[in-house]
Amino acid sequence: MMMTLKQQLDLLNSQKASATELTQEALQKAHALQDKLNAFVTIDDSSLEAAKSADERRARGENGLLDGLPIALKDIFCTDGLKTSCGSKMLDNFVAPYDATVVSKLKSAGAVSIGKLNMDEFAMGSSNENSFYGPVKNPWNTQKVPGGSSGGSAAAVAAGIVSATLGTDTGGSIRQPASFCGITGLKPTYGRVSRYGMVAYASSLDQGGPMARTAEDCALLLSAIAGHDPRDSTSVNRPVDDYETALSQGVAGKVIGLPNQYFGEGLDEGVRKVVDDAIKALESLGAKVVELDLPQQSLALPAYYVIAPAEASSNLSRYDGVRFGYRAENPADLNDLYCRSRSEAFGEEVQRRIIAGTYVLSEGYFDAYYRQAQRLRRMIYNEFATAFESVDMIVGPTTPTVAFDLGQNTKDPVAMYLNDIYTITANLAGIPGLSVPCGFSDGMPVGLQILGRPFEEGTLLAAGHAYQRATDWHTQQPEGL
Ligand code: GLN
Repeated sequence: MMMTLKQQLDLLNSQKASATELTQEALQKAHALQDKLNAFVTIDDSSLEAAKSADERRARGENGLLDGLPIALKDIFCTDGLKTSCGSKMLDNFVAPYDATVVSKLKSAGAVSIGKLNMDEFAMGSSNENSFYGPVKNPWNTQKVPGGSSGGSAAAVAAGIVSATLGTDTGGSIRQPASFCGITGLKPTYGRVSRYGMVAYASSLDQGGPMARTAEDCALLLSAIAGHDPRDSTSVNRPVDDYETALSQGVAGKVIGLPNQYFGEGLDEGVRKVVDDAIKALESLGAKVVELDLPQQSLALPAYYVIAPAEASSNLSRYDGVRFGYRAENPADLNDLYCRSRSEAFGEEVQRRIIAGTYVLSEGYFDAYYRQAQRLRRMIYNEFATAFESVDMIVGPTTPTVAFDLGQNTKDPVAMYLNDIYTITANLAGIPGLSVPCGFSDGMPVGLQILGRPFEEGTLLAAGHAYQRATDWHTQQPEGL
């Protein structure tokens, strides 16, 4: 039986299990499933030491919020003394000299990280097939992708290795894999969670967040990682809500908007049916449902694929073969060192984004592409802001289809990009989004996306929690693991 974080915490609090036992079990499972799922880049057996310390703290009555709970981290978060690869050959030899802020926050809450999770290279992708370490497999069907870029984070929870992980979401990378693997994932409001020590992809869109079995567990984790960080100038200085208390709000009396644009062409019929039922369930819990028209949403994908590569091309310029990371052997001169280090260590998709990003930022094209994309971004933000004057939440499918076959979309980048059509808008507007499991289509999990006003993570988590108290989709687990 796979447990939630809350259930594990109850075991620890009632002394029915020790942190050492829970961590041992998680490590064993991580090793046993590695060949099958490839969810980890690094499994950290030394985490048993941290578990032992957690047990000692608990014995002294000094335990923190998450003391002794085994978790795992997407390999994009810097960890002091442990490799941080970001899924790339470029950083295969990189050991950060410090912890990301969210990592130190989790550590001080007592959480025990058992390792670093596989991901698409530099968080670019929707299937985890862009990882230097090979693809992650979906625990529900190992012929299928787990989604991306936080595919390892989603698979590790779905397989019951750990009950919670951290992921990051630039255009959907928490919500889309959560949806594909039948777990719950929250992308917080931009600025709610510190990005310090999180390898940058597209800095104005990137946001770290929790992935777990339930909305309740996401609330627990968000409480531990949210908050202002003076080392991240984009983190917002505003008090953190009490997300656990917020859970009891429910959805009764809330107004939920259904945008026509999230139910149109491209949406798989099986997914639509499951999502329709989930919306009826929210209605029966007391939510009021209204239709919405959000015509600017169709501008999101083109705007994103200008802005994200532009920022990536700038962020990734630091990998020059000189300061850290991969260095080509025997360079003829400095230019050869730059060219070969970057060509040898970046994968195809990353190179594609760098080239596209450099192009849209170059003299003469900047106005035609980059400035236009920024205008579209503002229009999308404004459209959401207006919508949220009359609705509390916007609901729809997280993705247009369920998880697809490994290899199915690798030759067609645009087909791959279309996966994020419902998730990307939240990153462009900076608003929070939650994905909760809401059923199955063709034997694979379907996710329901709930978007909300900036800093109203509590409202989303409460809706997810109310839904999960009334349904049991989040308790379903893949067979044979
Ligand atoms: N799939 C999108 C991309 O490739 C989003 C990735 C993400 O959210 N990190 O850019």
